[in-house]
Amino acid sequence: MAVFIPEEKISEIKNAADIVDIVSEAVLLKKAGKNHVGLCPFHSEKTPSFTVSPDKQIFYCFGCGAGGNVFSFLMKQEGLSFPEAVRGLGKRYGIDIPERPLSPEQKKKISERERLFDINRRAMEFYHQTLKSSGAGQVARTYLKKRGIFQKTIDDFKLGFARDGWDYLLSYFSKKRISPALLEISGLVLPKKNKSGYYDRFRDRIIFPIFDASMQVIGFGGRVLDDSLPKYLNSPETLVYNKRRSLYGIQRAKEKCRSAGTVFIVEGYLDVLALHQHGVENSVATLGTALTPDHIRFLTRFASRMILVYDSDDAGIRSAKRCVDTFWKEHVDFRRQDVFREENADTHILVLPAGHDPDSFMFEKGPELFLEAAAKAPGIITFLINCAIDKHGLSTEGKVRIIKEMQAPLAAINDRVAQALYIQQLAERIGIAENAVLQRISEVSAQKAKIGFAVDGPYAPADPTHQPGLRAPGSGSKRSAAVITGNRFERKIIAMMLQFPDILHEIERFNILNYFENNELKNIGEYILKSNLTSTDQVSELMSRVDSEQKQTLVASLAIGDESWNMKGCLRLLGKFVEKGQKLRDRGVLDEQIKAAEKSNDHDQLLKLLNQKQKMAERSEKQKMAILSEK
Ligand SMILES: [Zn+2]
Repeated sequence: MAVFIPEEKISEIKNAADIVDIVSEAVLLKKAGKNHVGLCPFHSEKTPSFTVSPDKQIFYCFGCGAGGNVFSFLMKQEGLSFPEAVRGLGKRYGIDIPERPLSPEQKKKISERERLFDINRRAMEFYHQTLKSSGAGQVARTYLKKRGIFQKTIDDFKLGFARDGWDYLLSYFSKKRISPALLEISGLVLPKKNKSGYYDRFRDRIIFPIFDASMQVIGFGGRVLDDSLPKYLNSPETLVYNKRRSLYGIQRAKEKCRSAGTVFIVEGYLDVLALHQHGVENSVATLGTALTPDHIRFLTRFASRMILVYDSDDAGIRSAKRCVDTFWKEHVDFRRQDVFREENADTHILVLPAGHDPDSFMFEKGPELFLEAAAKAPGIITFLINCAIDKHGLSTEGKVRIIKEMQAPLAAINDRVAQALYIQQLAERIGIAENAVLQRISEVSAQKAKIGFAVDGPYAPADPTHQPGLRAPGSGSKRSAAVITGNRFERKIIAMMLQFPDILHEIERFNILNYFENNELKNIGEYILKSNLTSTDQVSELMSRVDSEQKQTLVASLAIGDESWNMKGCLRLLGKFVEKGQKLRDRGVLDEQIKAAEKSNDHDQLLKLLNQKQKMAERSEKQKMAILSEK
């Protein structure tokens, strides 16, 4: 429900929430001096440059320049709007936000995201009620029962039913006065071809609402009740739904993933439901796409061990191989980092015995055997070796092909010890000297390791739109480094103001900000003076007030440091700054005028200007001395 959140509530929530606690849920933090550091969740990196300051209640990444307070962290991390982040935190800390109806103007301002979430939630309820209590829902209830889906599962996952008709959802929403145009943005209805008007996207289908990790409904999947095609239909991508990032079931899986340290990744909605029903709640499904680096990065927040589960059919194996490429590249990144090696995601591939999908396997063999098989699931490289042996056999020709096929993946392993172990394993499995394998590997290692092994390898992805050489958006190589704004001096002074508020009085008294050339920094300086900052723990509060995200990041970058400021040093710095600024600007202008006067032989003018220059130098010196003599 969209509501206006009073300023004092925002402060109350911010004071209750500890940024280290909140960040720790997503990032593994280690203490380093006054601060905590970890691997940045916003770009791909091998050594931690993501810094959290418990004193100032802010974060800053020295790698990609992301920074802010606890709200901005949640907004970035979970893709929330500001009110969503505030409300979410409020709920967690038991702080009630009074709900006040919105004025028409405020209503207009609610972001499109909020509206989409709201529409999705209402559509979910509508479909859910249709399934549970309408006469028309009987056919779907019978179907789900036949598939072995329990009533509790239907409630837990909010399954629904879209009736067979063109406008059930449309007319439901038109009664609620929600325009079809807005519904079209949500993907729930489509415009009629060649005619005006709209029609429901989902008709005569079981509805699987798709949630994000914070329980917002982001989209829907629909499955037919018979053999008609397409068997599955999903929401189109919208402002709130991106299938390369979303995982079905994450909202119910995340806690168990954390406690078990393992996540199962399956292929379909019903697989997730089957696993959950049998107590394997740490399972999610990708949504009509192979596992992407974004998925992997997201999942490593919840579990370090990932098990990809596939049916035994060819499609499952093909898909597993395609995943291996994506996965390994991400994996390689994890391996390269020295600091958190013990937390490396370890990845396994579980291919179920012939004729089984997770549902049938659970039903026939039970969860114990499933977990047993999962515990034995081979790691990625071992899986590839198994596949290569199966494919080529152990004849002499077969062995040659196996080695050729394994060259690139083995060369891509950056951890020397791991690489040696896998080479040993391959050599033993096919009965050949380790040195022979090693030699073949070293032939390809140099350049192939750089570009990703599957570019021209045996497991080049079948999907032509998938480009292994490209990194996902948001990953390290595409992000620009921290924004550097303003000159060094001005940045230093703002940093001083943020880290050493004792100086603010002098900054104001000597009008230091008037000497600033960079407007953004000057503006931040004015915010700081206005906010009457008295200690560094108010920095996070200040951050909520600056008027742009860019300024917020800039504040974070300048506040995060912990220089040991003292009054004397600070005043000396200010003195130098004033002196330098005057030299540069005033003398610059004067010098131009002097030059012009010289050129035109205007002696009177020249004398006047030189006099002026002399005075200016004296004045600057005086001001400098005044600042210096403060202490
Ligand atoms: Zn970063």
